[in-house]
Amino acid sequence: MKKNLIITIDGPAGAGKSTVSKQLARELGYTYLDTGALYRALAYQAIRAKININDQTQLADLCSRTKVTLANNNGKMKVYVNGEDVGDRIRTEEVSRTASAISTFPVVREALLQLQRDAGAAGGIVAEGRDMGSVVFPQADCKFYLDANVEERARRRKDELSGRGVAVEYQEIQKGMVERDKQDSEREIAPLKAADGAIIIDSTALTIEEVVESVMRQIKSAATANI
Ligand code: C5P
Repeated sequence: MKKNLIITIDGPAGAGKSTVSKQLARELGYTYLDTGALYRALAYQAIRAKININDQTQLADLCSRTKVTLANNNGKMKVYVNGEDVGDRIRTEEVSRTASAISTFPVVREALLQLQRDAGAAGGIVAEGRDMGSVVFPQADCKFYLDANVEERARRRKDELSGRGVAVEYQEIQKGMVERDKQDSEREIAPLKAADGAIIIDSTALTIEEVVESVMRQIKSAATANI
């Protein structure tokens, strides 16, 4: 099998991208790149700095003052903001909403583009996000678009938050997801969509193992065909 592939997994929140991507990266011995965490890191900083996120000048200034860096810690990606490990503080609903809002602005997307491309420069990466296959790695060896209906996605997100001891109403999660999906897929630059050539998988009725198995099968056949 061809080595050091670039594998992209795009899709809406709660479709299973993170779990599937982490598992794939582990099985393949690849780097896992969670690009949502980068947008979350800038959003977190915007909240802390109390800037007006609809003001492009303030956003540009924030981007130029904020150094986002990554480190891979035993397959778990750590994100640093100006040298500080932001941990799970970027996983709140407020940060989710703010990340979606700021990611509509070109200045934010440009600030994070090179960092993402550098992370994938040597290949051997599983990159998850919204525009991995369409914008960041259009040359990827294998592209996937993972989807699921919104009820199931909200249920998964609720379970994930409960697992971390965070209590949020199901209805509130679902409402936030619908808003985020709309904003992410209707924005002008790098909207959430299946990239050309992406294999679309609906995970609504599938277990994580079934999704990973199906993705792995496609990767193996694509990689063998490309030798
Ligand atoms: O994937 P996650 O839910 O952590 O992403 C948070 C937000 O960051 C998304 O709702 C989306 O607006 C933005 N994002 C993006 N492009 C990516 C990854 C995330 O615009 N490649």
